[in-house]
Amino acid sequence: MGRIYNFSAGPSMLPLEILEEAKKDLTDYKGCGMSVMEMSHRSKYFQDIIDEAEADLRDLMNIPQNYKVLFLQGGGTLQFSMIPMNLLRKSGKADYILTGTWAKKAAEEAKKFGDIKVVASSADDNFTYIPRVSKDEFRSDADYIYITSNNTVYGTRFTEIPDTGDTPLVCDWSSGFISEVYDVTKFGLIYAGAQKNVGPAGVTIVIIREDLIGYAPEKTPLYLDYKIHSENGSMYNTPPCFAIYMAGLNFKWIKDQGGVAGIQKMNEEKAGLLYDAIDQSSMFICPVAIADRSLMNVVFVTGDPELDKEFIAEAEKRGMLNLAGHRSVGGMRASIYNAMPLKGVQVLTSFMKEFEEAHK
Ligand code: PMP
Repeated sequence: MGRIYNFSAGPSMLPLEILEEAKKDLTDYKGCGMSVMEMSHRSKYFQDIIDEAEADLRDLMNIPQNYKVLFLQGGGTLQFSMIPMNLLRKSGKADYILTGTWAKKAAEEAKKFGDIKVVASSADDNFTYIPRVSKDEFRSDADYIYITSNNTVYGTRFTEIPDTGDTPLVCDWSSGFISEVYDVTKFGLIYAGAQKNVGPAGVTIVIIREDLIGYAPEKTPLYLDYKIHSENGSMYNTPPCFAIYMAGLNFKWIKDQGGVAGIQKMNEEKAGLLYDAIDQSSMFICPVAIADRSLMNVVFVTGDPELDKEFIAEAEKRGMLNLAGHRSVGGMRASIYNAMPLKGVQVLTSFMKEFEEAHK
């Protein structure tokens, strides 16, 4: 079987170029006689890999010097607890905006550690839109405000970052990471698991403003304290070496695509093509409010679960895999992360037209 178009929400497709490069280096990385998987994380080779990955990411995202970049383990899920453990540092209060499954999970976890208030939610309309929240709706003494900027399950995204004034804004950017230009200075902390837009599962990137580090209570387990990782260049313990290496290759690939601005342009083109195909069809419907549509996870339905199943099965026969929606919502979801080529979306949209014609 050749390469397929993989529309999985994550782990998801990676650029072929970086897979080929990793393959080339797999058994003998740059002539050192071993694989990145086999080398000590304390070796000069690996130090160069992690330093270069961080430098390239800083460059791509224009990350200021007063922010630390951490390469951690535990996925997005561990951040649901690390964030309140470290950032509830004064009032013990934090405000959350609920825009779907992952925001809900994050808020539930945070409730174990402090006074968590849901200031807005789109649950009333099955998370098909992003609630607008003004600065005065947040508690003035909140230690942080929390958003999930791209909602993997429901296919929504914040197109405007809420103004939180001086209160640090925390952002779960797991499924949108580095897919569009973000002004890092608007955030206190940004995090993302790598397995959607960056590389294989196993590394979670945390970008955190320095002044928010150092407040974890004394009894916090070492691994859960950002300070430990920050003071040790993400190498207090053995980091996920191979995943960091792959992330580094991916950052170089993004540079070759014209940086984040170049990638954003391509993502807008791909998403535009797919949403246009849905909106122009009389078979497919996207339930998401037009202004809040995700560039990464495009959710659509026919309205008939049996027809959805047929569509997904037929698409699979044509090399388009993992188009089923999240198990909690059904229908279809095409995850078109950075690595999905325009061609993949073109193949999908022409199949949608053909399927609709055949079912008239
Ligand atoms: N946040 C978002 C937006 C996600 O999509 C996911 C996973 N799909 C998570 C958090 C959880 O991440 P992980 O599986 O890496 O723990």
